[in-house]
Amino acid sequence: MWPYLAIPGLVAGIAARSAVWYFAVDQPPRWSCPACGSTPRRALVPVRPLTGRCPRCGSSVPPPVLVPELLGAGGFALAGWLGGGGLRVAAVCWLVAFALPAVLVDARVQFLPEVLTWPCLAGVLALCLGQAAADGAPAAAVRTMLAGAVVAVLFRVLVSLAGVGRGDLSLAPSLGIVLGYLSWSAVVVGIAAGFCIAGLGVAASMVVYRRGLSGQVPFGPPLLAGAVLTLWLTAR
Ligand SMILES: [Zn+2]
Repeated sequence: MWPYLAIPGLVAGIAARSAVWYFAVDQPPRWSCPACGSTPRRALVPVRPLTGRCPRCGSSVPPPVLVPELLGAGGFALAGWLGGGGLRVAAVCWLVAFALPAVLVDARVQFLPEVLTWPCLAGVLALCLGQAAADGAPAAAVRTMLAGAVVAVLFRVLVSLAGVGRGDLSLAPSLGIVLGYLSWSAVVVGIAAGFCIAGLGVAASMVVYRRGLSGQVPFGPPLLAGAVLTLWLTAR
């Protein structure tokens, strides 16, 4: 059954493309092409060209071709494969649907739209707690809430001490909740994996682009990657 979840995941990826275009093309957010100013396909539900190029002038617009669509399909399929109950699967799908466009925007313009990250947090918390209630597992419910709170406090400290962005503060508790539903070790490994991947990214950008440490590096994508990788590795 889980491979079929790739289909709604694909739809979520298409929606993510619209969100990324909206938030990452320019700041403040807008719908039009940054090169020619045309607004592709005005519709009730705006669908952006999957090619990642403006249909009128051909200039590239984020995100790259098929990236959100494939990540969305993969994320939803992973949620189904992890299992753990219907609401738990929905929680991981919800995380993918909201956090994926947020981190793709972050990767482009170093800005995590809180209009995506806060609904992400509310949804994963409600769904994980719902699953814990359905399973009659109060310990899992308490751990889920505590994990979200602990990660929120950790990032609150990092925002004041290490200059971590406020957007990261709104994304990280969602990851803490989804990981905390599993176990405390999943929380530690998942968040630590995010830091490791971010560190590798900084090192790689210093080597490839000869950037200094001062250059701003998006923290959202490595955080989400670390959490998803941990979900996958700790499954079953
Ligand atoms: Zn254009």
